[in-house]
Amino acid sequence: MGTAADQQRDVIVFGGGVAGLWILNALASRGYDALLMKDRELGAGQTLAAQGVIHGGLKYALGGKLSDSSEALKAMPDRWRDCLDGRGEIDLSRVERLSPCQYLWSLPGVMSQVVNFFGSKALSGRAERLPRNQYPAPFDTPAYKGSIFRLEEMVVNPPSLVAALAEPVRERLYRIDWETSRPGPEGVRLPDGSLLRAKRWIFAAGAGNQWLQQQFGIDGPAMQLRPLHQVMVSHPALPPLYSVCIGTTPKPPIVTTTHHDERGCPVWYLGGDLAETGVSRSETAQIDEAKRLLSQMMPWLDLTGAGWSTHRVDRAEPKSESGARVPDAFSGASGNTLTVWPSKLALAPRGADQALQWLADLSPASRQPIGELPLARPGLGTAPWFPASR
Ligand SMILES: Cc1cc2nc3c(=O)[nH]c(=O)nc-3n(C[C@H](O)[C@H](O)[C@H](O)COP(=O)(O)OP(=O)(O)OC[C@H]3O[C@@H](n4cnc5c(N)ncnc54)[C@H](O)[C@@H]3O)c2cc1C
Repeated sequence: MGTAADQQRDVIVFGGGVAGLWILNALASRGYDALLMKDRELGAGQTLAAQGVIHGGLKYALGGKLSDSSEALKAMPDRWRDCLDGRGEIDLSRVERLSPCQYLWSLPGVMSQVVNFFGSKALSGRAERLPRNQYPAPFDTPAYKGSIFRLEEMVVNPPSLVAALAEPVRERLYRIDWETSRPGPEGVRLPDGSLLRAKRWIFAAGAGNQWLQQQFGIDGPAMQLRPLHQVMVSHPALPPLYSVCIGTTPKPPIVTTTHHDERGCPVWYLGGDLAETGVSRSETAQIDEAKRLLSQMMPWLDLTGAGWSTHRVDRAEPKSESGARVPDAFSGASGNTLTVWPSKLALAPRGADQALQWLADLSPASRQPIGELPLARPGLGTAPWFPASR
């Protein structure tokens, strides 16, 4: 084969979204000779398309009770806050915090049961009902007749998160082109002919995990994809809005976060049930549906001259019998491989905990990564609300 020498590392991570980058940081700080290989730009896939909400599980209480899912998420806001304040397991002090909270707003006349639940003692300290004189824009109008709660769930800007997670481990990141490199049960054959081996492999490649399992000849945990069709509306007069709308079912009709396009114009990024049910709609039909919903829910809002677009993306998760999201981060081992799906951006730290637990019997070989690979570094991807990325 090639003339270049074969190499062996402690751990090689495939991925480059929030899961892979969080795991790589955890491994590096514990002295593992660990690398990450990425097929496209950092964050491409789900992470840069995420709304950036660090859920504490309250959204999942819209059925009027705390579910398993919300209990698993409960510890996440504090853990992230420590990191964002620069005193946690990873220094995320450079991450842009878009909002310290989310607002839960109800459509007029909608279900007193959920409204009562959010005002109940069960959620005291986590959700607070606002008096009318504190309603944030765009609800600060007599035309809005519903209730508003402030939820202590912060929102971060995903591009700045990817940049902050990549920074401390820059020299461990490589871009892999699967046209010129080949994965297999022995390891990865690089373009110079050398074989790259690892004691352990971690698949944190989102929707790419199944393909990696096949290449490594592993009958690993099965995957499910749940598609979304997000909507973006940009207009210079849009107020910042980080909110979950309460409708008539446990699924919020619309979840809104606010970002800025490359000209600095505010963009409302709309998810929730609109994005789930909109999968079967064309881009034009999905935009029409978003316009219809917004004009029905906020008839006082003037969106004349707004720019509209959509973004399709799949959520990649472990297969569940019901087809629903699993309540916690998931990792499944097979031989010397571990497949990880955090299933929520907020749960990425839990994915890293599970990876470290799986590696508990492997002593780190070195405090520094050993030597460079003949591969390029990956660049940073762009978020859907940057028109250049569409
Ligand atoms: C529209 C949307 C909104 C969301 N909003 C939120 C939210 O507000 N809060 C929240 O907690 N969660 C949210 N989520 C969920 C969250 O984004 C995901 O759970 C999380 O980003 C998954 O991270 P990941 O690293 O596992 O996957 P990804 O971000 O998809 O990263 C996987 C990476 O692996 C790379 N890859 C794929 N195949 C290969 C290969 N063969 N070799 C090497 N690399 C490969 C891909 O290029 C990709 O960059 C949202 C998801 C979507 C889709």
